[in-house]
Amino acid sequence: MRILVHDSVTPVFDPDLLVDYLRSEGLDATTDRPPAACDGCVAFDHDDALLDAPWVHAITAGYDNYPAERYREAGVAFTNSTGIHGTSVGESVAGHCLTFARRLHRYRDRQHDRRWERDPYDAAFTLDGERACVVGLGTLGRGVAARLDALGMTIVGVRQTPAGVVGVEEVFTPDALHEAVTDARFVVLTVPLTEATTGLVDAEVLAAMREDAYLVNVARGEVVDQDALVAALEEGTVAGAALDALDPEPLPEDSPLWGFPEVLVTPHCAAMTNDYHEAVGDLVVANARRLDREESPVNRVV
Ligand code: NAD
Repeated sequence: MRILVHDSVTPVFDPDLLVDYLRSEGLDATTDRPPAACDGCVAFDHDDALLDAPWVHAITAGYDNYPAERYREAGVAFTNSTGIHGTSVGESVAGHCLTFARRLHRYRDRQHDRRWERDPYDAAFTLDGERACVVGLGTLGRGVAARLDALGMTIVGVRQTPAGVVGVEEVFTPDALHEAVTDARFVVLTVPLTEATTGLVDAEVLAAMREDAYLVNVARGEVVDQDALVAALEEGTVAGAALDALDPEPLPEDSPLWGFPEVLVTPHCAAMTNDYHEAVGDLVVANARRLDREESPVNRVV
């Protein structure tokens, strides 16, 4: 199978790492062959030339930046990388929650000024016994739920069907989102960006949250009404937020979100990890073999 590792992957990892990995698995991979002359292309972003390839694989789980319908019309098989981010994003979210609870962000801030100063003793809390609401219980949501559960938290979740999920005490459907977030100390967003999830966390949802609650967004920036979030932070109707996904990205220098002491901004890196290219590579190899046998690929979007 002739595979192109598209240049667009460069911001995530060195394309040659994936080329070497795919070659070690017996695929004819390269970074410089036209998509039309390939059996498959691996990309981080869309480029119209990819419409000439028989198969395109996105190295991300989210594919809102790809024109999936145009792929369908062009007869391009389009697959994504859902299924590989549960551990990395789960650990990132556990880190966010621990940081707020144990006040680590404030001490790191003061370290920049070489300042030895404690928060009031009752500013800190333990995650043990606190409640988290995980919105979206797919790969990310389950990875988050498992890790927060292991830290002693009570987990509730929101998913499209009310069926139970291991480690999640109560499952709400999307129409009961307000009820689901009401008692949570942390509300964690792990849904894909779709028409239904655009602006999902609006002023009303933020108002339904506890005043001491933190919002954690590892989904997509557009899932949150950012102006409403800024207003809620200014008015103190929520305690803070950890934002790995923002709208737009990069977050502009003049965004007020940079300035809140109780906001952590990370540059869409919750899933980054040193073996990311191998996890993507394993999906590409598995799908190349399936396509070779004329079977349907896994993680097929269209
Ligand atoms: P997934 O497909 O495994 O899970 C998504 C889940 O959300 C599914 O179970 C789906 O049924 C559910 N869902 C969809 N709409 C919903 C709604 N309105 N309410 C409740 N649940 C809903 O995908 P995943 O791998 O878990 O990734 C989820 C999203 O997270 C991606 O689409 C991407 O945008 C984002 N993501 C971000 C990072 C990062 O680095 N921050 C990394 C990976 C994925």
